[in-house]
Amino acid sequence: MAEQFALAALFGFLIALASYFARFLTLTGSLATFVLAVVIYGAGGWQWTVPILTFFVLSSLLSKFGRSRKARFELAFEKTGVRDAGQVMANGGIAGLIAALSFFFPEYEFYPYYLGALAGVTADTWGTEIGLLAGGGTTSVITLKPVPPGTSGGISNEGVIAGGVGALVIALSGYYWFGDVRTAFAVVVAGMVGSLSDSLLGATLQAQYRCSKCGALIERTEHCNRPASQEKGFQWVNNDLVNWFCALTGALVVWGMTLL
Ligand SMILES: [Zn+2]
Repeated sequence: MAEQFALAALFGFLIALASYFARFLTLTGSLATFVLAVVIYGAGGWQWTVPILTFFVLSSLLSKFGRSRKARFELAFEKTGVRDAGQVMANGGIAGLIAALSFFFPEYEFYPYYLGALAGVTADTWGTEIGLLAGGGTTSVITLKPVPPGTSGGISNEGVIAGGVGALVIALSGYYWFGDVRTAFAVVVAGMVGSLSDSLLGATLQAQYRCSKCGALIERTEHCNRPASQEKGFQWVNNDLVNWFCALTGALVVWGMTLL
C-alpha cells in the first residue's frame, strides 16, 4: 500500500514535470496534476490511471495542435491552452473523488462512473478543439441560430462527432478492465450528455462579456486590451464550474443507465 503511493508520487512528479516543460500546464496546473496522479494511481493503479492519462495526453496534444489556426478564438476564451490548477481540477476533480471513494469503499463498483466523468470532459474538450479546427457552421444549442465559432454554448456537427469519438476512446481505454459492451455504450452516452449539458450551461448561466471595442461576445473580462462589460449569465458561473458540472453529469448518466 505505502509502496503503491510512493510509486504514485514518483509517477505524478514525472508527469507534472513533463507537462510543465511541454507547456501543457502552468505551475499551479502541474501541482494539481501531481496531487491528482498520487490519488488516482495510488488508489487504483494502472486500471484507473490509463483512462485519465488517455484523456490528459490526447487532449493536451489536441490543444497544442493547430495553435495558430485557433489563436483568434483563444482571445474569446476565458483561459488559453496552457491549463492552470482550476482547469485541471475542473476536468479531473470528480474523477479523483470517485477514485478516492473506490479506495475507501472497495465493495462498490465505481469504475464505470469514473469513466463516465472522464468521457464527459473528454467529449467537451475534443468537441471544442476539433470543432474549432474543423471550422464548420456553429449554432447556439438553445436558439439553434448561427453564432461565431468559439461562442459559449455553440455546437457544430464536427464538434458533436469529435466529442462522441472522444467518449468512445475513453470507453475503450478502460475496456480491458470492465469488458462489456453495455458499460461501454453507457460511457459513450454519458460523454455526449455531459458535453451537451456543458453547452447548455455555457449558453444560459455561464457569464459572457461584450467587448466594448469590437463587439465580440466572450468568456473573459477583457478583450482588445480593454475591460469588457458583462452581458449575460452569472459572474460566478465560469468555464471551470461548467466543466465540473460536465464531469458530474457524465458520472451520473452512467449511474442512471446501470440502474435501468
Ligand atoms: Zn474586442
